[in-house]
Amino acid sequence: SAPTPTLALDSRFARELPELALPWRAVDTPKPRLLVLNEPLAEELGLDPAWLRGEGLGLLTGTRPPAGATPVAQAYAGHQFGGYSPRLGDGRALLLGELVDSSGRVRDLHLKGSGRTPFSRGGDGLAVVGPMLREHLVSEAMHALGVRTTRSLAVVATGRAVQRETVLPGAVLARVASSHLRVGSFQYARATDDLDLLRRLTDHAIARHHPHAADADNSALALFEAVVAAQADLVAQWMLVGFVHGVMNTDNMTISGETIDYGPCAFMDAFDPATVYSSIDTGGRYAYGNQPVVAEWNLARFAEALLPLLAEEQDAAVALAVESLGGFRERYSAAWSAGMRAKLGLPDGLDGAVASALVADLLALVQADHVDHTSFFRSLGRAARGDTEPARGMFLDLAGFDAWAERWLAVGPDADAMDRVNPAYVPRNHLVEEALDAATAGDLEPFERLLAVVAAPYDVRPGLERYAEPAPESFAGYQTFC
Ligand code: AMP
Ligand code: MG
Ligand code: MG
Repeated sequence: SAPTPTLALDSRFARELPELALPWRAVDTPKPRLLVLNEPLAEELGLDPAWLRGEGLGLLTGTRPPAGATPVAQAYAGHQFGGYSPRLGDGRALLLGELVDSSGRVRDLHLKGSGRTPFSRGGDGLAVVGPMLREHLVSEAMHALGVRTTRSLAVVATGRAVQRETVLPGAVLARVASSHLRVGSFQYARATDDLDLLRRLTDHAIARHHPHAADADNSALALFEAVVAAQADLVAQWMLVGFVHGVMNTDNMTISGETIDYGPCAFMDAFDPATVYSSIDTGGRYAYGNQPVVAEWNLARFAEALLPLLAEEQDAAVALAVESLGGFRERYSAAWSAGMRAKLGLPDGLDGAVASALVADLLALVQADHVDHTSFFRSLGRAARGDTEPARGMFLDLAGFDAWAERWLAVGPDADAMDRVNPAYVPRNHLVEEALDAATAGDLEPFERLLAVVAAPYDVRPGLERYAEPAPESFAGYQTFC
């Protein structure tokens, strides 16, 4: 049957960068069944939700791509936990193509779990229901929190049994992103020693994400600086909402500045920079508090890939890269500090040193007493209105909190502004697990409820108390698997 007549997918990536695009087809799905459809996103893309629920399932699984589309597996390299892999690529994913959304933006339509490709190595090319619903849930929560991210259009159960530690139901995620260009895409292009390819990739990235860089004297350097800024802003936002990505390999860092690849990610419960949830991150490389430093390290790898374009002489290129990378710390600190000032409702004119001391002293108290990150910051809004007990009750060091609160209240924090930046609801780990376990067993209701809750994170509604509460003590030691 025919795809939607209005849907024309471009293949710009494949056309401009054929060396990075391997034409490929999605594997058949024995019994496709739609688990979740993001209707507002579908509308934004000009796709009819009713069509997607029926015939359009063939688009969402890649089994019936639109006429003229060229689905491709993308090639990329990457540093995984610090070790370089020259050939990663889409081992279980495909780029279906690009489309122009209702506001004129170019968006990638991409599949995850669509079968083996030449990049699959030992993998089966498949994905399972739990992790794909997790990506849908967490990426939509991030979007609602105002954090730049890839989006999930749909998750479709395939009807295929997938062998993991146990046999699990298979699924395909349809993902939408402003592109899937990664630091690892540049590492791959650089490693080919084909300067023309590296230049075309750079031009493609500039055109899609940072068009102003095209006008710069040194456009590759301008691209680098734009990505440094975008990633500094992004990681600052992760830190402010307590997000732990879990696998910040260079192949999982975008050129667009969108969060990508929701594998072993989690929202931090008790505030602690050493927080790690991923079962494979035994060294804590990607711990909550390491994320800014890791982002900077990844950007250094990006700079290395760009070096031949930055200047003719290698020494000059290195000097430019080092100077521009130096902008990361400044930009990150400014974004994080501004965000923390907003979380504390500090007035605009407040002296910088006073603000910094309030932030630093509070974080020391919160860390010492293992206070729940999300509920504490939300409760500060009430404290600013005079009801300090809910916040105070989270501390053992009551004298320490009281002394801090007195200083803080004296500067006149703005409670309403705080409630607009401190979420009441995030996808808490125990709630996510509960929802995904039920979904895997065939009951989607807890997932749908949780999705609706985190889609409006700042808006406290009656009856949702359990979604705002910290995990029970028995939940300590939580681990994620990817
Ligand atoms: P990730 O950790 O999800 O970013 O993936 C890292 C690399 O492993 C990418 O090249 C993926 O395509 C590949 N990969 C992950 N899972 C599978 C799988 N089940 N089959 C084939 N390749 C996979
Ligand atoms: Mg990845
Ligand atoms: Mg992945």
